[in-house]
Amino acid sequence: MTQTDFQWRIPLADIDLGPEEEAAVLDVLRRRWLTMGGVTAAFEEEFAALTSAAHVLAVTNCTAALHLAGLALGWGPGDEVIVPSLTFVATANAVRYTGATPVFADILGEHDLSLSPDDVAARITPRTRAIIVVHYGGHAADMPALLALAGRHGLDVVEDVAHAPGATLDGRALGTWGDIGCFSFFSNKNMTTGEGGMVTTDDDTLAERLRLLRSHGMTTLTWDRHRGHAFSYDVVAPGYNYRIDEMRAAIGRVQLGKLPGNNARRRALDAHYRALLPVALPGVGLPYRATRGVPGCHLRPILLPRGADRARFMAGMKAAGIQTSIHYPPVHRFSYYRRDDGPSLPITEAVAAREVTLPLYPAMSAGDVETVVAAAADALAEALVERPSGELSAAYG
Ligand SMILES: *Cc1c(COP(=O)(O)O)cnc(C)c1O
Repeated sequence: MTQTDFQWRIPLADIDLGPEEEAAVLDVLRRRWLTMGGVTAAFEEEFAALTSAAHVLAVTNCTAALHLAGLALGWGPGDEVIVPSLTFVATANAVRYTGATPVFADILGEHDLSLSPDDVAARITPRTRAIIVVHYGGHAADMPALLALAGRHGLDVVEDVAHAPGATLDGRALGTWGDIGCFSFFSNKNMTTGEGGMVTTDDDTLAERLRLLRSHGMTTLTWDRHRGHAFSYDVVAPGYNYRIDEMRAAIGRVQLGKLPGNNARRRALDAHYRALLPVALPGVGLPYRATRGVPGCHLRPILLPRGADRARFMAGMKAAGIQTSIHYPPVHRFSYYRRDDGPSLPITEAVAAREVTLPLYPAMSAGDVETVVAAAADALAEALVERPSGELSAAYG
């Protein structure tokens, strides 16, 4: 059974859940230890093996991971943290939670939708403390250039790796290039626990702070006391409850096992898209046409030609039963973040106005990709037809 009445022929994303996840959750329920126990410890160990990070802590979600990262690095009022605007809003919100100010920087261009090191450099002030790098769509940002820049200015680097678990650049896991990596296991990500996330670091001091802040600032956990390792605890910071539970960790372990195969499948499907799209939709921008490292291929973005009517394009796709989306409405344009003297982000704005995300998930077939591309060619032809102004609003009124 699906949750919605509307049945997409090809949805934007789909999760790979089966009897293994069900059995893993049942097993936890029958063992009757439900939060932050042996299953979570095993999940963390296995994630450490995937990323080679020295410290790995499972958390409630990636937003919590980003908040913890900022707290562990000591961001606060008066500090500025440079973030992309072309991201999910949580990247910027998490900066706000610490009292620091997010400063939006532009992206590289139509070929690469992650932060431009040059534009980041132009926004550094004496108040700048850190950069949050988002690996858009699962594709590595320019980490060597961003780390060199951060090094010259003494800035922390946090990686928002929500799109890129299992992805690497120069053989090194994304999330382990900067000081702290923040991963998401939300329902539509490359691996899921429903809600869930992971925070990684190689720094022992940061790891200790992250561990305390994840669980109320307490020096021992219920799990330690249960195992007779401690009888009481101290509280050394006003921490949070950002823990994961054992049911989610159990799902995560199964999902983690599937991740390498599912990411490989995503890469193969994305390669098929990259081969077909330039032929079927000439004039359409194709970010990440040349891939770097081993990407996570979380999203397949395209950029419609200037002048194409995006709403009409997406309606045409919907009529063909194909779900599309937009990644992202730029954060600096949302009511909460908008300012009259707001930043000039010409590339972000130009790209965001033309971007459409096509379906990409491991269970798609090569034939599904061909179906999407054929429908996109038809929808684009429609979206390029000049119409008298007013007709569109009438059609959608
Ligand atoms: C999904 C996402 C987040 C938030 O992840 P949650 O686990 O839902 O909190 C943060 N940043 C990016 C880029 C995302 O795509």
